[in-house]
Amino acid sequence: MSISRFEFTDNVMYVKGVGPRKAAALEKLNIFTKYDLLTHYPRAYENHSSLTKIDDLIEGETAVIVGRVSHITSREARGLTIVNAYLADDTGYIKLTWFNQKYLLTKLKENMRLLIIGKAKFDAWANGLAMNQIQSFTILDAYEEPPLGIVPVYPSTAAISQGTLRTAIKNLLASMPTLNEILPQEIIDEQELMSLDAAIRAIHFPRDYIELDTARRRLAFDELFLIQCGLMLIKRQTQDKRLGISHQRNGALLKATLAKLPFDLTGDQKKVFREVVKDMERSLPMRRLIQGDVGSGKTVIALLALVKTVENGYQGAFMAPTEILAVQHYEKFSALLGDLGIRVGLLSAKVTRTKKLREEIYRQIEAQELDIVIGTHALIQEGVTFARLGLVVTDEQHRFGVAQRATLEKKSDAVPDMLVMTATPIPRTMTLTVYGDLDVSLIKELPPGRKPIKTLVKSLRGRKKVYELVRAEITAGRQAYVVCPLIERSESEQLADIESAEEIFEMLSGGIFRDVPCALLHGRMKPAEKDAIMEKFRDGETKLLVSTTVIEVGVDVPNASVMVVEHAERFGLAQLHQLRGRVGRGAAKSYCILISDSKAEISKARLETMETTSDGFKLAEEDLKLRGPGQFFGEAQHGLPDLKIANVFRDVEILLQARNAAEKFITDDDNLNYFANLRANLALAYGDKFSQIVAN
Ligand code: ADP
Ligand code: MG
Repeated sequence: MSISRFEFTDNVMYVKGVGPRKAAALEKLNIFTKYDLLTHYPRAYENHSSLTKIDDLIEGETAVIVGRVSHITSREARGLTIVNAYLADDTGYIKLTWFNQKYLLTKLKENMRLLIIGKAKFDAWANGLAMNQIQSFTILDAYEEPPLGIVPVYPSTAAISQGTLRTAIKNLLASMPTLNEILPQEIIDEQELMSLDAAIRAIHFPRDYIELDTARRRLAFDELFLIQCGLMLIKRQTQDKRLGISHQRNGALLKATLAKLPFDLTGDQKKVFREVVKDMERSLPMRRLIQGDVGSGKTVIALLALVKTVENGYQGAFMAPTEILAVQHYEKFSALLGDLGIRVGLLSAKVTRTKKLREEIYRQIEAQELDIVIGTHALIQEGVTFARLGLVVTDEQHRFGVAQRATLEKKSDAVPDMLVMTATPIPRTMTLTVYGDLDVSLIKELPPGRKPIKTLVKSLRGRKKVYELVRAEITAGRQAYVVCPLIERSESEQLADIESAEEIFEMLSGGIFRDVPCALLHGRMKPAEKDAIMEKFRDGETKLLVSTTVIEVGVDVPNASVMVVEHAERFGLAQLHQLRGRVGRGAAKSYCILISDSKAEISKARLETMETTSDGFKLAEEDLKLRGPGQFFGEAQHGLPDLKIANVFRDVEILLQARNAAEKFITDDDNLNYFANLRANLALAYGDKFSQIVAN
């Protein structure tokens, strides 16, 4: 008889207590293998350390009780559904009350055993204690021992109960052989880390909070250490492989460009440009990130750096995130640089759509008949070969990702300098994680004469007045944006109350703005259609633009002076701040009005910080505290692997320790092979996104 070996890649249905039916339900949680189940970490813990008998309950103290349910009833009152039941143990009984949890009626059954965590309060009706602040409840089987100690609470769905997950994971751990270490022993010793085996077991079923903390630190360290090693490896490789370009000192062309600028650089712009110049003159390739709020004047720095590379006989490439922005930059650059004899080209979708135009511009790039080429992703497509690429600038790079950056790098023989610009106010901790291979420059100061944008939070009742203000602005010759969270009315119950961009557009263009040219813009339109609508708005033909967040990135319409955001509570603060940056670009006083009818105190308080704060970094940190990094960036655009346990905001200290350890580790050549193995072992754990960062 053969003893079957334990494999992490085994289907989860082979875990004792799972089976095919539950395995199907687990798929909804992205759990397919034993490994997935093992790393399905708790989202919280409950303390069931001591059970209290019902007779011993003390008013106002949170307690854990176990008993049988009876007398389940429900009623409607003031629009609320109230569910009542009684719970009895061998010492007495207590009335339970749940508000607005109608689904309980299908879950609760007479005589069922429940474990309840809640707070008892005196109740006049019951003339005794009752529980109407119930934090959580767990259904127990007839003879199941109530789980005691610190109990994990897992992310789950309606089809999979906490009890099932706990039992399955307990069984899995029991069948699992001792895990091998994946980190070098010296790092484990130096960092005083718990062993991997102990950490994985303790993260699910910790004996006490100290053990839980130690386990969490170990697992978070692993994740962050690996990412840091990966990022440092990228940096090391690009800096080692081939030397970069040493640009000469600033010359006449750059001086002439500076003289042609219609303004003086701000102090921050000067400082950042000096940092860029220093990098470009070194023989190591520049890898620099410029972070600056919307409108802080990053583009000028890019322009000057591009002129510097042209002055040295090289070509520069400038990648913008959208077609509209590429055109905008192209127009500004050609107007300024054309007179100086610098040849600027635009590689847009329009140009590349016809074979003839496309081949002509490719030829010009290859023959160095163009000095600066501006474009979108088209710039990194196959077929574009630069004769002498000296500098690559990417605008709003988090939308490009590490992989694309690497592709562009391979487009030339010498390693070109690279400058990355972003208006997303990424907190320092995130910068370290996502952009660990880049040096960072900050522009904090806004150009002079910029008027602050007046931000107001209004309820739905105030909506009419808000649109009267919009009307007054339009009558005064200015333009307005109205931003909505959804394109069309959602089918999901959760979003059912949210008016869509389509509906708002109908309401406005058919009502108060009947006589005003309005347009609707959203992400499901074809690029050409979007461009046409945006162009009309930019030319001032359209006065009011109703849109989804597609206008978020970089659009520059100085005549737009007011932005209304409908259902503002649906957006992150950093995102609202980005949106708000679309107005206040001209001479007129500008407004941003956030409409929200959210009753939740927390979301009101959140929105109110928008009224008082114009510091994008502060808002971003607020966001990160409340929401994870994934949410923060919206979708999976950030190129950050989904961390299973580390939280780059909360775990700053571990992040810094991991970074230091990685720095030491990666400088030692002997460790590189070791790291390659480590990576192979853990590719499984972190999947594609991780390998994107660590690849090459
Ligand atoms: P960002 O790319 O950082 O969002 P831009 O580079 O587009 O910002 O600059 C926003 C606006 O400010 C542009 O119209 C630009 O011409 C102007 N600007 C940039 N730097 C200065 C400055 N030092 N003084 C005055 N205006 C400036
Ligand atoms: Mg910009």
